[in-house]
Amino acid sequence: MKNRSATGGISRRTVLIAAAGAVPALGLMTGAAEAKLAPAAVKYQAEPKDGKQCDGCNFFVAPNACKQVDGDIAPTGWCLLWVKKAA
Ligand code: SF4
Repeated sequence: MKNRSATGGISRRTVLIAAAGAVPALGLMTGAAEAKLAPAAVKYQAEPKDGKQCDGCNFFVAPNACKQVDGDIAPTGWCLLWVKKAA
């Protein structure tokens, strides 16, 4: 029978390899959280749709920006991500 260490058989080398792989992955996750989507990717248009428009969306940042979509965002615009602004 093999003699297992207190780590349940996981070697120090395995732990170090896992840690080295986790650091770049965390960096990618952080970058993804900050990246905005391209307007075309979410079918952004400068006109309202079905009575919904950016200035009524939870992601709108006055006067002309969005937390989710890159570029100039018209208050009268709309995209697939529209979510009713919290009251
Ligand atoms: S509808 Fe909302 S998520 Fe889409 S561009 Fe306008 S403010 Fe941003």
